[in-house]
Amino acid sequence: CGIVGYIGHREAYPIVIKGLKRLEYRGYDSAGIALYDGNDIKLSKTKGKVADLEEKLENEISIDGNIGIGHTRWATHGVPNDVNSHPHYSNSGNLVIIHNGIIENYDALRKELTKRGYTFTSETDTEVLVNLIEDVKTKENVKLGKAVQIALNQTVGAYAIAVFDRQKPDEIVVARLGSPLAIGVGDDEFFIASDASPFIEYTNNAIYLEDGEMAIVRRGKKIKVRNIQDDSLVEPYLQELQINLEQ
Ligand code: GLU
Repeated sequence: CGIVGYIGHREAYPIVIKGLKRLEYRGYDSAGIALYDGNDIKLSKTKGKVADLEEKLENEISIDGNIGIGHTRWATHGVPNDVNSHPHYSNSGNLVIIHNGIIENYDALRKELTKRGYTFTSETDTEVLVNLIEDVKTKENVKLGKAVQIALNQTVGAYAIAVFDRQKPDEIVVARLGSPLAIGVGDDEFFIASDASPFIEYTNNAIYLEDGEMAIVRRGKKIKVRNIQDDSLVEPYLQELQINLEQ
């Protein structure tokens, strides 16, 4: 399973698709992608291989956009099928999420959200998480980053996530606990991935999030890293990757 993301000035699609292929070695049963073209989110996902996704999405969506997130799923909650594949939308359609890991208390959270009027199209723990984030965001009237932080503090489990808000399409919020997450830092562009292999040809500067950290990856801004639990700011450690591309 793996996650890939891009925000910058290039076309996101080829970067994300190629990145998902590089992460195939991690194992998966489904794949999906969401792109933002300046107007709307376009989403395509399927059970099967990344090659199946490529074939399917050609008939479903246009592939332009400078922001994109992609996912390969290893099903833990809900069978491998198209609907349970990621990305997942929140009920309003504004938020879109990819997630590797498990939200262990998803059942209690799902019941609580159902009482509050939320509905679910998939059987996944991930769709519960994205709606929890949306609920916090609207209820507490906070920005996406804060809503993600508050929501994650109500979860038990493991995750690497990337979340995007169609109403504030200049940032991707990422977080990790128990699943790896690297951020490639380029020139006014950022890459997100489970490991550095999807972005090594674009940049050799990377920030590896530690467990319990989240980051706001925003166009034209310095990356802000925080401790999810105690809210303290963490000075990001920019690491220089030494990877031989010639093999
Ligand atoms: N628990 C999530 C699901 O079953 C994510 C699985 C994964 O790590 O890919 O959809």
